Amino acid sequence: MPVPVDGTRIIAADREPGNWLTHGRTYDEQRYSPLTQINDENVGELGLAWYLEFPTRRGLEATPLVVDGVMYTTGPWNVIYALDAETGRELWRYDPKVPMERLRYTCCGISNRGVAVWNGKVYEGTIDGRLIAVDAGSGELVWQVQTTDPEQPYSITGAPRVVNGKVVIGNSGAEFGVRGYVTAYDAGTGEQVWRFYTVPGNPADGFETPAMEMAAETWTGEWWKYGGGGTAWDSFAFDAELNLLYIGTGNGGPWSRHARSAGRGDNLFLSSIIAVNADSGEYVWHYQTTPGDSWDYTATQHMILADLEIDGETRKVLMQAPKNGFFYVLDRATGELISANNFVPVNWTTRIDMESGRPALIPENYYPEKPVVLRPGPIGAHNWKSMSYHPGTGLVYIPVLETFFIYSNDPAFKYTPGLWNLGQAPELTEPPNDADGGTSSFPFGAHLAAWDPVSQREVWRIQHKGLWNGGVLTTAGNLLFQGAADGDFSAYRVDSGERLWRIPVQTGIIAAPITYMVDGEQYIAVNAGWGGTWSLIGGARPVLDHPPAHDRLLVFKLGGDQQLPPPPEKPVIPAPPPLTASADQVKKGGVLYNNICYVCHGAGAVSGGTIPDLRHMAPATHGAFNDIVLGGALSANGMASFADVLNEADAEAIHAYLISRANEDRQP
Ligand code: CA
Repeated sequence: MPVPVDGTRIIAADREPGNWLTHGRTYDEQRYSPLTQINDENVGELGLAWYLEFPTRRGLEATPLVVDGVMYTTGPWNVIYALDAETGRELWRYDPKVPMERLRYTCCGISNRGVAVWNGKVYEGTIDGRLIAVDAGSGELVWQVQTTDPEQPYSITGAPRVVNGKVVIGNSGAEFGVRGYVTAYDAGTGEQVWRFYTVPGNPADGFETPAMEMAAETWTGEWWKYGGGGTAWDSFAFDAELNLLYIGTGNGGPWSRHARSAGRGDNLFLSSIIAVNADSGEYVWHYQTTPGDSWDYTATQHMILADLEIDGETRKVLMQAPKNGFFYVLDRATGELISANNFVPVNWTTRIDMESGRPALIPENYYPEKPVVLRPGPIGAHNWKSMSYHPGTGLVYIPVLETFFIYSNDPAFKYTPGLWNLGQAPELTEPPNDADGGTSSFPFGAHLAAWDPVSQREVWRIQHKGLWNGGVLTTAGNLLFQGAADGDFSAYRVDSGERLWRIPVQTGIIAAPITYMVDGEQYIAVNAGWGGTWSLIGGARPVLDHPPAHDRLLVFKLGGDQQLPPPPEKPVIPAPPPLTASADQVKKGGVLYNNICYVCHGAGAVSGGTIPDLRHMAPATHGAFNDIVLGGALSANGMASFADVLNEADAEAIHAYLISRANEDRQP
């Protein structure tokens, strides 16, 4: 049975609040539901209605969609599931069979943030850069296009949006050396309609658009050799009346402007919000949140559209809290900055100048010679975790990170395509803390902030135990739902922040919840599964007294009485083989590890539990170490061969470093 979702239905989504038709529920991406059956009076009766368990512990980031009683979501490895939203019964699944060794070209695991649905088809972007269209009724493939050059280290983790019959998709890979762009494809046929590059290519090849010619004025040197970055890997929003599609773009590649653009220029359109004509992809306006970004301060974060009363006038605004720690309110017709205020302590700039709309830039903070300690750090004051805007309270709820970082130019930096190219000296050698991924000298924190976008002030906050928490849902039932790193899925009063209900789910939650209704009954759904950047790079674990459970999709209703099986028990950690290498070999292995391995296996070889902790390898893994690292023996699990960048002596040095880290881990 085809699912006739189209623009008319999505624009009028409030007429059918039982459905969740697009990523942010509505084109304005407010993630607010008008449903009230579950509310602040009865939320204590919420219980598990059903759950779907995946065989992995890799993390889940997807926002499920619900259309007329059918739920569409993505599990690990880009598998799409269609489920009976009332019972969880599987209707079909589609496995796009992504090559698992592509994981080498991702920063953050096999993340996928969900699908789009339009006129009887379900759309997904895959980790190997495809956009696929599957029949919503049968689960059969209808068409697929390769949206990226498969020879380049592109990946896709974001959810597509469909506007005016066009499927819009971006990509990721700035740190690996790619050039960002967004493409729109005909939803029916998969034919390309337009492409908007977010950073300029080599001027000698000519510019694709006048916008690229303008952008190239703000770059210096031979940036195109490094790709440039500016990848649009997560957020979009759409104003149907203005026919504007809003694109949030990412950081530069490499991070440091010195390594990328001879230390000069704004480097458009890095870390920017760009408005384009939804039908032609033509540039309309942009606002750059972080000119000349050198700190991984992406503006790919969630954008929310709303009409706000500001100074006695109703303004059509776009709101964003990018990684750089400021909350921005823009006029979404013109891109004019209405207001900006920092929602965490920041020191990369002193203020945003309201005349020019630009931050005051402090030359030393570009760390030309000396390292600088800046807040926020590269995972930001706010990452991809969805916010929510509640029109009743007028507040935006932000999953806030309290972080900082030592930024330092690596004078020995050499660009290597396909590896993690930051241009940063490896300053942070202290092993990370378990729960927050910070270190004892640099502890991190996190909270949920209720933020007034008109007065630009925090109204209240909920302090979290761990750093890497979930996205937010608010409802007209005076409720706010959020999962956390401590394994609790909780409901709070949206007006006061008082916690009304919680349930332990045996793993950390990083995804955002949704709500929907089938046959007159309201449900709350959330993907529970620990993973993503901060589990991998940061090595942060969920705050639990047991290992995280398998990834699961959990669905709740009033009076739900399903139970989860008991949580996993702590494994016995095997002893490493004796360390026979010299101190120099261990040191060399540590440097290689920090250049190549840590992006997945964690700083200091501390795993956040998403992939095996290399300090805890079994004897058989130690025995097969070179077969795995050079021979690709585990490429089917996502561990590709690195024989192109490592020789046998390198692999042995890395092995020695890991044995030394295992010994340190075993010290009382
Ligand atoms: Ca980045």
